[in-house]
Amino acid sequence: MMNPFLLPLDREELLKRLSARGAPHGGMMPGTMKPPAQPPDPQTVWKSLRPTGGSPSSATADVPLVIYVHIPFCISRCSFCGFYRNRTDDAAIEEYVQRLLVEIDRVADEGVFTKKPVEVVYFGGGTPTALTADQLRRTVGRLHERFNIAPDCEFTIEGRLFAFDDDRVRSCLESGVNRFSFGVQSFETELRRSLGRRLSREDTLARLARIKEICGDRIALVADLIYGLPGQTQEDWMERNVKTVHLESALDGVDLYSLKVFPGSPIAKRVQEEGNWSEEDRLARHAEASDYLAVQGWKQLSTTHWGRNALERNLYNTYAKIGVDMVPFGCGAGGFIGDWSIMQEGDLAKYRTAVDAGLKPIDMVMQSPPTRRDSIRFTRMTDLGYFDPSKIPETDISPIIDNWTQAGVWTPVGRSPRDRRFRLTRLGEFYQTKLNSLLTGFHMAAHASALDKMRMMSAGIASKLKG
Ligand code: SF4
Repeated sequence: MMNPFLLPLDREELLKRLSARGAPHGGMMPGTMKPPAQPPDPQTVWKSLRPTGGSPSSATADVPLVIYVHIPFCISRCSFCGFYRNRTDDAAIEEYVQRLLVEIDRVADEGVFTKKPVEVVYFGGGTPTALTADQLRRTVGRLHERFNIAPDCEFTIEGRLFAFDDDRVRSCLESGVNRFSFGVQSFETELRRSLGRRLSREDTLARLARIKEICGDRIALVADLIYGLPGQTQEDWMERNVKTVHLESALDGVDLYSLKVFPGSPIAKRVQEEGNWSEEDRLARHAEASDYLAVQGWKQLSTTHWGRNALERNLYNTYAKIGVDMVPFGCGAGGFIGDWSIMQEGDLAKYRTAVDAGLKPIDMVMQSPPTRRDSIRFTRMTDLGYFDPSKIPETDISPIIDNWTQAGVWTPVGRSPRDRRFRLTRLGEFYQTKLNSLLTGFHMAAHASALDKMRMMSAGIASKLKG
């Protein structure tokens, strides 16, 4: 029977396969995703949760503790975004912040997650930078007062440069924030405007420089950029974005993402009408940008993220992928503790009602399938751009090693015949998520029952026939 985890050696077929959705995956393993007969009660589950890896008083537990705070308001909707929820409204934001503080206090009063040091705090959204200086000071300050925020905690405020004025910047700096992550997306003025961004290229760069001037080396400045946008040329991507990051910006870190088109987002229509870059073009630009930053001395911290200096650690993005405990706060926040994933109420009215009723505002909890732990083991390696089979000793991956090497997704870097480590190539980095999924699927299939193996092979062949 055909092995669904082998990759085509023909380039066109290979890219088609790696860019297709729905390959054989651990999460598809028959028998691993059975829905519970009775949905678990979120409040009961919440009360049972404890930090993973030790007692709540343990300061040595090895699973990092993260706090995630969601601010579900935006000044306007960006055309590429699939996460827009609520338009900024001064009164609504203040009301929201007050409830957020109640939620923070209530979890702190429970005393379960307050003893272990918090290694990462992340304010995401939405647009956390839309909070006023006073609101930022109150929320950031409350977390510092009520939780054991580690001295070297990475504390990030995400958002937009527009309206993030000096008062807000100083408020964050004085309250204990040490990282800003901005969704710059592009340094090209016209392109920015087409995305719904208001600042010009010049204003964006000037604003970054001003924030750096205020904060110095006390805060890491990080930005996301997107390539493959409608109307963007490949030359401009390199010349007016990637090179700008290095030569003209005050950034300490950068994420370079290939455009992901969310169905129903405003940009989806443009992509449909105008088309966008081919898979080969995206791949080539990923490789070119990565090589350029590497030559300029930037350190690659993941398959998509680079740091210019030691200020940028990229801990949140790394931890979010490798299964740490993440305590969620706010409307629409997602978290994960132990084997439970937690999704908080995404509707503002429901969030308000739950907080006012004295509840943790959770909409849904789900116990993860056993495949998640395996997927995390592979993610820990592939997201850092390597794979070491000796870290998964119970699975013999030799049936795919040579094929994957020939397909060009990784290259051997072991120093002896027994050292079978691999480094992902630029191609492998670009398709890291898919490769991770395939590795997890391969691992699960290797340990599945004979019947499940048959089912999985059939699923793989069916998806191949469809794809
Ligand atoms: S990209 Fe950010 S600011 Fe823009 S709509 Fe999405 S969540 Fe809001």
